[in-house]
Amino acid sequence: MIAAMRLAALIAAISLFSPGSFWEAGARQVPIKPDPDIGVTDTLARERASRISAVRYDLALTIPELRSQPIAGQEAIRFTLANAAEPLVLDYAPDRSGFLKRVEANGAGTPVRQVNGHLIVPVAALRAGENTLSLEFNAGDASLNRSDDFLYTIFVPARAHLAFPCFDQPDLKARWTLSLDVPGGWEVLGNGAELDRQSAAGRTRVHFSQTQPIATYLFAFAAGRFSIEQAQRDGRTFRMFHRETDAAKVARNREAIFDLHGAALKWLEAYTGIPYPFGKFDVFLVPAFQFGGMEHPGAIFYNASGLMLDQTATQEQLLGRASVISHETSHMWFGDLVTMRWFDDVWMKEVFANYMAAKIVNPSFPAVNHDLRFLLDYYPAAYGVDRTAGTNEIRQPLKNLNDAGTLYGAIIYQKAPIVMRQLETLMGSDAFRDGLRQYLKTYSYGNATWPDLIRLLGERTPENLTAFSHAWVEERGRPVIHTELKLSKGRIASLVLTQQDPFPDRGLLWNQRIKVAVGPRDVRLVPVQLNAARVDGEWLLSNLPSIDDELTRGGAWVTLWDAMVTADVKPAEFVALAMRALPVEKNELNVTRVLLYLRDACWRYSSPAARAELAPRLEPILRAGLGAASGSTLKSVWFSALRDVAQTPATIDWLTRVWRQQEAVPGLTLSETDYIRLAQELAVRDVSGAQAILDQQYERTKNPDRKAQFAFVRPALSANVAERDAWFSSLADLANRRHEPWVLEGLRYLHHPLRSASSEKYIEPSLVMLREIQRTGDIFFPKRWMDATLGGHQSVAAAAVVRSFVERLPSDYPERLRRVILSSADELFRASRRQ
Ligand SMILES: [Zn+2]
Repeated sequence: MIAAMRLAALIAAISLFSPGSFWEAGARQVPIKPDPDIGVTDTLARERASRISAVRYDLALTIPELRSQPIAGQEAIRFTLANAAEPLVLDYAPDRSGFLKRVEANGAGTPVRQVNGHLIVPVAALRAGENTLSLEFNAGDASLNRSDDFLYTIFVPARAHLAFPCFDQPDLKARWTLSLDVPGGWEVLGNGAELDRQSAAGRTRVHFSQTQPIATYLFAFAAGRFSIEQAQRDGRTFRMFHRETDAAKVARNREAIFDLHGAALKWLEAYTGIPYPFGKFDVFLVPAFQFGGMEHPGAIFYNASGLMLDQTATQEQLLGRASVISHETSHMWFGDLVTMRWFDDVWMKEVFANYMAAKIVNPSFPAVNHDLRFLLDYYPAAYGVDRTAGTNEIRQPLKNLNDAGTLYGAIIYQKAPIVMRQLETLMGSDAFRDGLRQYLKTYSYGNATWPDLIRLLGERTPENLTAFSHAWVEERGRPVIHTELKLSKGRIASLVLTQQDPFPDRGLLWNQRIKVAVGPRDVRLVPVQLNAARVDGEWLLSNLPSIDDELTRGGAWVTLWDAMVTADVKPAEFVALAMRALPVEKNELNVTRVLLYLRDACWRYSSPAARAELAPRLEPILRAGLGAASGSTLKSVWFSALRDVAQTPATIDWLTRVWRQQEAVPGLTLSETDYIRLAQELAVRDVSGAQAILDQQYERTKNPDRKAQFAFVRPALSANVAERDAWFSSLADLANRRHEPWVLEGLRYLHHPLRSASSEKYIEPSLVMLREIQRTGDIFFPKRWMDATLGGHQSVAAAAVVRSFVERLPSDYPERLRRVILSSADELFRASRRQ
């Protein structure tokens, strides 16, 4: 595997020697237009979309036994060209030079120029109307996620062309025909159904049927040593590819996974009025997948640990599994059938997937308060970014698909669903649904923009959706709301709400409908239009546990935490209230949320001295909560909180005995992943015999994928600083960052609060690496890289490192990456001011 540095150097070298303009191959030197930039720019995409149509790819790949050997490819690209008077740009940026073997255009060998990760086909080789390009090449590895005995593609947002030549933009949808030649014993999975399979001489060749028109970022395949489960639901066949070796775990989960997919499909067909658009339906459970899921039509990929749950699964994980399945299944309509024209609207497919998922999941969990879950799932994470200086608007302009990864985050995934709920509330749910149906029908197998949708929805409501969209979608930040309540003889005389724009010189107004909780006795919910409220902190501190309604209580916790973060409430006060409220809180969603806040309040906002003083009072409360909890899901929530905050010798000894299996946690059956986590938490606490615990855990771990991950992370947990230094240094090599979830797990332990003093020195180099992380990594990696780096720190010195780095940034530093840093550093900045 070649490091990205070399790729960048290679591209720079090619640029140096190219004249900076198109040259007709072997002919007159006629500069026609500048060379295309690295990546796919909106200019290039628009130019191509105006000329090219009816694209079909016929792709054949031969995957060798050894990961170190290149994958050979043959490809025919057929398309209709409206204008053949200018050269045509294809995208192809493999991670090595010399990978392009031969190009034929319309039957004749053609010299093409390679520049900045593109192939330029000369005018002489093109003709108006139908064209066929035939190519022989080796596939680049960067987006193929190759392990020793399996591989899978991730081409979002524009990474297909790192593997093979194509027009890598979302609005040049194509029909795909794939054939894979793989080592014998390997299974294969593509978007299309398997047509035929031939095996000979230790090799297997599989042809897949042609797909419906789909975007390049949705084209996918996987191959390797997989197990396959199959089931029928409502007359449809579902297949699940996986690498889980624990047969009992597979048996425990398989029916639920098929049921959830079946139910989601049925719901979506009814809601949209459109039958499932992509024929067959398979899923692949990827070990340590870099995303929760990826919505390839007919072949959804999931993070295996999100679907194959352990016996210690919490209610949150059960809900999370149902949600991610519904989310990806919703994408078959929202994103796959109708796709954004450009990635500036990527949030649209994400918001609909999340929003539909919430509607789908709710009926399957009748015991759950779903309004409370909506509140706790979306508001804290959305506030976590929107309150920071690094926040962004939901819809962000995008010049180059290379930067598309920086668009993703809590604003898209958590704030946008809140906005969508406001929109549905404003319009009414029937008008909203009818507008969506018309949108899906109008743009089926094609592309659309947010303004296209707003126009269709706007025809169905008297509300001014353009103004609504401007404040909520096109601008960043959230309103600051002040309340003024006047009481007269115990009755509300007046309730005045004012909203204020936190950004100067903008004066934005956020149109919304909300409810305000009014106390102190018999808390009442007062519906208010066009405003939101901040409930008084002092009042909440004394009354929160006694609020009867669990949704109002959840809202109060979110509000109170916000007040703690913005320094209106002291961390110690928050912790004291949480310790008083937890024993009487029965709602699992609220318990989960408060325990999350409590972890953060301990590790992030309490000084080491305060934490040490707190531990002997806090841990018995958590232990008692674990004992008193009814049901394994709630017990698991308490247990993991106790494991994460454990500091006293008594608790650490008990956890060690649990890890040694000398003692059981009553009512809870721990699994392999639980024991791994426990061993890691013990090691980072430097318990005596930590080395032996890690050794033994490695031996105990049976599943090969989990074993490999454990071995990778282990040096980051070492008691020896030099070993941790070496692990961190190794991340400079792209080859060591191939498994992003492994890297993130290691970073979180490297920067664990208990080790923060010795890990401060990694902050600056990690900040320096961020640009390369963004260039070489998958879409979520830059933000998660920063979160994992800064998440364990609270010191003034750590904050100063980040501030100084941001102040010294060159003027051409990407603004989006600067915002990623600022939003990841926000809580560090706030916490350091409390020290
Ligand atoms: Zn999604």
